[in-house]
Amino acid sequence: MNTLLKAIHSIVGDSGLIADERVAQRPNENLGQGSCPAIAIVRPSNTEEVSQVLKLCNDAGQVVVPQAGLTGLANNTRCEGGEIILSLERMNKIEAIDILGATVTVEAGVVVENLQRAAEEHNLLFAVDWGARGSAQVGGMLGTNAGGNKVIRYGMARDQVLGLEVVLANGDVLSNMNETLKNNTGYDLKHLFIGSEGTLGIITRAVLRLRPAAPARQTAMVACPTFQATLELLGALNQKLEGKLSAFEVMWANFYRLLVVDQKKHPAYLSPEYDFYVLIQSECVDSERGREQFLEVLEGCMEDGIVVDAIIAENSQKTEQLWALRDDIDTLARAMHPVVPYDVSLPLRYMDEYTSEAEIQVRAILPDADFVTFGHLGDGNIHFCVGPVADKAAVNKIVYGLLAKYSGSVSAEHGIGYDKKGYLKHSRSDAEINLMRTIKTAVDPKGILNPGKIFDL
Ligand SMILES: Cc1cc2nc3c(=O)[nH]c(=O)nc-3n(C[C@H](O)[C@H](O)[C@H](O)COP(=O)(O)OP(=O)(O)OC[C@H]3O[C@@H](n4cnc5c(N)ncnc54)[C@H](O)[C@@H]3O)c2cc1C
Repeated sequence: MNTLLKAIHSIVGDSGLIADERVAQRPNENLGQGSCPAIAIVRPSNTEEVSQVLKLCNDAGQVVVPQAGLTGLANNTRCEGGEIILSLERMNKIEAIDILGATVTVEAGVVVENLQRAAEEHNLLFAVDWGARGSAQVGGMLGTNAGGNKVIRYGMARDQVLGLEVVLANGDVLSNMNETLKNNTGYDLKHLFIGSEGTLGIITRAVLRLRPAAPARQTAMVACPTFQATLELLGALNQKLEGKLSAFEVMWANFYRLLVVDQKKHPAYLSPEYDFYVLIQSECVDSERGREQFLEVLEGCMEDGIVVDAIIAENSQKTEQLWALRDDIDTLARAMHPVVPYDVSLPLRYMDEYTSEAEIQVRAILPDADFVTFGHLGDGNIHFCVGPVADKAAVNKIVYGLLAKYSGSVSAEHGIGYDKKGYLKHSRSDAEINLMRTIKTAVDPKGILNPGKIFDL
């Protein structure tokens, strides 16, 4: 053990430092890929330990890569040999739930699903939710400003944060565990760190918003004849459900058929012959009234020809089954291995043209690959999965290159990481990227925190 690791050991103790063969047994990248080449994994148990460890690393010019649940999909947690991994997995306490104020105070290592369950016990809802909920941690969720399935109603991770505690590279602790919705006292610094992919500071604790739990949930999967019909359906639901729409997940036929017909992993809840499938969810308090209204709106859409077929979830088991189909990225990834996932956003008015053009161009260079499209359409967010892919750069060029023409973003949710830094300029101006570099240099002058992610200095 070198001098730095010995000093770190004296701060975090035996259970806070892994510096043996167990390091290589851990993955290095998303989806459990790779073997971790770090010299050590440091697992502090509180903010003070994080601060002391970072101060030591900063003084020594030692690179530190924060890793949480390792479910991020932009390669923003990959470390290189000689680097140290910082994991807050032992900082997993839900410190307090304030029922009156509808807030929860957590340490950053809390797994998101545990936070959701804790809120439910108090008849409250933590609104950020997505397929990786069982592994992703609060620190990773905030590090990437995660979105998920309910953004259309509750906003992204950023919109749930009231207060944040962050440790800077030099060990300084910025603690602003604000609990109120309104606080206009100068620059709102928390937003600098949310979505900064571990490059500006280590998030150690947070005060997050909770919402009233909506005990009644209506879920349906419907088929639409055209993309235009999915847009009209979204408009109708937004207008007629009076703000209760909480998810609007569109699956192109290529997504549905791969899971239902080719892989046979899910029953064909609807015939696989349609062009578009939408998983819709509405949440409210009054079950009977909510259901009536939901069915009325869907019936109206069927009469108008926007919806051509539908299955309504009659119970929570059916609801889970419909969601399991939408969330089954695992089966997609296996079937299309090696798969390249894309996560882009653009104005709804361009989406049909963009997705069609991207698919045609990708199929032209990869005629044997599968190409599937799905996404959180209500948020203007589309995911493509392409695979198997040998030459990722050629596909990137098409998918990201086309976005400039449609005023799109190369990352809607997953961040930039290593994977997209070459494409950041498609979505952000030189002036913006220069300011990002200035901020990075100001708060982390030695560049020890997650270097090489988002941009190079
Ligand atoms: C099946 C599946 C579905 C997904 N669906 C969605 C979706 O719908 N919406 C969505 O937004 N994402 C989605 N993702 C991506 C991923 O789950 C999110 O990006 C998630 O927020 C990452 O959390 P994590 O704990 O795994 O973080 P990690 O992947 O470990 O880290 C993510 C980033 O946060 C940084 N970080 C980690 N901890 C800290 C900390 N304490 N302080 C500062 N920075 C930190 C890391 O350095 C890294 O840059 C999905 C992933 C999978 C596998």
